[in-house]
Amino acid sequence: MMVAASLGVVEKQTQPQPRQEEASAGEGGNWSRSGWTDSIAFEPVLTCYVCASTRRTPAFDLSFFDHSFKWVRCSDCGLVFQSPRLTKSSLDLIYNSELYWRGRSEVANPPAHSTEEIRLGYNNYERGHPYRLAQARQRVLALSNHLPSGSRVLEVGCAAGFFLSALKQAGYHATGIELSAAMAEYGRSRLDVDIQVGDFDQLEIPSGSYDGIAAWGCDSNFHDVRKTYSHMVEALHPGGILAFNYFDFDHPARVFLGSFKRVYNALYYFNRRNVASLLSSLDLEIVSHSTEFQYTCLEEIASMTGRRGVQTLARTFGVERSMLRLPILGSYLLLARKLPNPSQRP
Ligand SMILES: [Zn+2]
Repeated sequence: MMVAASLGVVEKQTQPQPRQEEASAGEGGNWSRSGWTDSIAFEPVLTCYVCASTRRTPAFDLSFFDHSFKWVRCSDCGLVFQSPRLTKSSLDLIYNSELYWRGRSEVANPPAHSTEEIRLGYNNYERGHPYRLAQARQRVLALSNHLPSGSRVLEVGCAAGFFLSALKQAGYHATGIELSAAMAEYGRSRLDVDIQVGDFDQLEIPSGSYDGIAAWGCDSNFHDVRKTYSHMVEALHPGGILAFNYFDFDHPARVFLGSFKRVYNALYYFNRRNVASLLSSLDLEIVSHSTEFQYTCLEEIASMTGRRGVQTLARTFGVERSMLRLPILGSYLLLARKLPNPSQRP
């Protein structure tokens, strides 16, 4: 469920816009504009996910799909989080929509919208196949420094399962859980990987079932990040490894990254300090914390950052889909070990 940039963003626009003419239900696969506008809902977030503080200050507002989204900053730990936040049922609708995974230009009869282009997630997730597989192999390599081949690994929010495929090739026992039935089917049929469709938060997993749990590209997307991380820690065997990536929202590089990560479904933004605090409170010890290199292409970079000029230039020279491996400043790959005994907390 990797987050992607959204187009048509208007900062500091706090009043909802007049509703435009709606498309008929059923357009855009299982997605419809009327479905979205009728179903979108928000709920208050009473306390900070990391430190439980109730003190906060306004951070920024953005407008998406004719709705105003607001983020606040915790006055105690600095976590920036959406409040009020999208309800879980609103998010489930998005992640199961064809439009999220394939983009407007790829969906037959996309829903009408007031803006020129609506972007929920990916331009076309499937087209990123070679990049995602290369990225997955790099992540398996990082994990293999702390978790031997043959270990049981669960990936939460595995999408089509590229990481599972790379794990399998490296000799791990890999299982994934994914909200999107379409993505799970893609992974099973194209990558021959084991994916269960469902909501990880709702799964009953016996304590200590896995030696490793990974969550890639979900760093801002869990509905209640403390609840989900607690659930992952419970499912980990003592001494097991939790692996994930995240973007440090307070990294100086953010000013160069345009609208990167400024997306409607970013429910919270970590920084280095509060992510460490969250992990420590869950009896996890950080064993590796490094800048993540991203396999990508100029077309994707232009889309993620909202820098249209990059795409135009790349298309001029015919290199918009050429594979690149770049360090993403402020983006970290983090591995943490579940302490065998909570008293060993550093
Ligand atoms: Zn806090």
